[in-house]
Amino acid sequence: MGISHQVEASQLSASTMKRLQPYFEQGKDFHGYLSPGLALGIIMVDFAKEILGPRNLVSAVVETKACIPDAVQLMTSCSYGNGWMRVKDWGKVALTLYDKHELNGIRIFPNWEEIKKHSLIERWLMRGGNIDKEEVTKDIIKAGRSICSWQRVRVAPYKRVKNSPLALCSLCGESHPAIDGDLCVRCNGRENYYEGTDNVNEVVKLVKKTTS
Ligand SMILES: [Zn+2]
Repeated sequence: MGISHQVEASQLSASTMKRLQPYFEQGKDFHGYLSPGLALGIIMVDFAKEILGPRNLVSAVVETKACIPDAVQLMTSCSYGNGWMRVKDWGKVALTLYDKHELNGIRIFPNWEEIKKHSLIERWLMRGGNIDKEEVTKDIIKAGRSICSWQRVRVAPYKRVKNSPLALCSLCGESHPAIDGDLCVRCNGRENYYEGTDNVNEVVKLVKKTTS
């Protein structure tokens, strides 16, 4: 994207910048481009890691689906797939890294007092329109940790849904957790993300279902 993130950064110390530079680079490949959210996420994760200190097992909770989860996946062993990162769809630019056993964590969130000194960052965070993403990304990297606050948090015990035995759905015939009942979540109407398929059998079955 042609942004030079080499040290024009004032708030990020030279050593921090050196540490983060590879993540800014990798982030471009991983995320598609270095978005403002990813840049901020990288700064936030780095900050949280430093305050939390070395831990054997770290878990993460991210409070937005946008951009920040990719920073966590890039910089920690927590990924969506391994279950060590939970993603909340709260629309909040915040994250917590915590010790998986002790449940003590560090939550990083925006420091609005400081952010108000950076009008472009403020507008971007408030989802103002017409924002030059490269410009705001540069501003975020310059501002660095100064626009972040942190607090210690105690994470509520969290258990992943146990792998329950599977059963075959009586409508679509696919396996699904038996705990959901006779029908899978799609067939019982609780969840859906595709409205139709080219599977004639399914259409027939669905018609049968609605007429029975
Ligand atoms: Zn089904």
